[in-house]
Amino acid sequence: MSDIHNFSPGPAIISSFVRNGIIENLNNFKGSGIGIAELSHRSSLFSKFIIEAEEKILNLCNLSTSHYRVLFLQGGANQQFAMVPMNLMEEGKVAAYIDSGTWGDKAYKASLDFGKSEIVGKSSTYKELPKLEDKFLSNQSNYSYLHITSNNTIYGTQIKELPIVTTPLVVDSSSDIFSKEIDFKKIDLCYASAQKNLGIPGVTIVIIKKELIKDKLNINSFFSYKTHADKNSCFNTPPTLAVLATALTVDWINSLGGIKEIERINREKADCIYKALDSHKCYLPYAKKEDRSIVNITFNLVNDELSDSFAKQAKEKNFLFIHGHRSVGGFRISNYNAQTLESCREIAGFIDDFGKQHS
Ligand code: PMP
Repeated sequence: MSDIHNFSPGPAIISSFVRNGIIENLNNFKGSGIGIAELSHRSSLFSKFIIEAEEKILNLCNLSTSHYRVLFLQGGANQQFAMVPMNLMEEGKVAAYIDSGTWGDKAYKASLDFGKSEIVGKSSTYKELPKLEDKFLSNQSNYSYLHITSNNTIYGTQIKELPIVTTPLVVDSSSDIFSKEIDFKKIDLCYASAQKNLGIPGVTIVIIKKELIKDKLNINSFFSYKTHADKNSCFNTPPTLAVLATALTVDWINSLGGIKEIERINREKADCIYKALDSHKCYLPYAKKEDRSIVNITFNLVNDELSDSFAKQAKEKNFLFIHGHRSVGGFRISNYNAQTLESCREIAGFIDDFGKQHS
């Protein structure tokens, strides 16, 4: 049997550095003789560790601890769809959302439970990224924040540059956090459920500007960012193992040379797959070329017969979890940080060979 190539869209492949680190610390956390999942989150060892993990993330983002906090929460990105409006909506203002895909649409719909929101940019097919509408750009002071999705996991589109806006910018970066360089200083709040590029399922990280962490009287205190910031993410029991996996991922990224180097590798991996797809007429890449994602590569084949044959042969070669999301169909190859260059080259070779036979 040939090697397994795991292209899962999430939870996704993790590096052996992180996997081995988890195993080691599951047995013996930092040489204490106690496993990470058996250690009290109130212990001084864990309290120190979670503060260091926060600093490590801010360092990687080039953000200062004086202006930003990192929270380790649970509930996934879906919980952030509610926590963002609960905490950031302002009386008399409207929350602005870009609808670039299913997740942005869900975030917008969730916000309607808490106040007034508007879509200020929508792509008709989700094959391309929408532009910000003039109603938003010319009246930004009417809006409490702008919410965008940096990578549309299902459709395979990804923003190249963050918009420059005067309203607080909120970014759902669940599927591309730390996969390419961005200027985190342009972001007021960024969240990511960390099971694709960062760590393992169970933790959601929120990177937030300190000035947005405020007392909120009209919401249950558990859903206030301040509650968790004040207690260094230990107001209640945090997902200790997943926090550890997140910190290990940051160590791994640093050991490779930081986000710049990770981006270079991710581009090399993505480029070889896109090149193979673009070389043969039997493939129909889904996303518009300029808006293509480097972490989710989506495409179809020109007819069902070829599609079935491609799927069958890919399975035989152990290219796993490459079917597209059920709402789009076709195929999706996920190329998150821990995906290997070898697996990407293997699947690019397979795409090329199949294309030569069928174009
Ligand atoms: N936003 C994006 C961009 C996603 O890719 C996903 C899921 N993979 C979500 C939100 C939802 O995340 P969760 O399942 O953690 O709520």
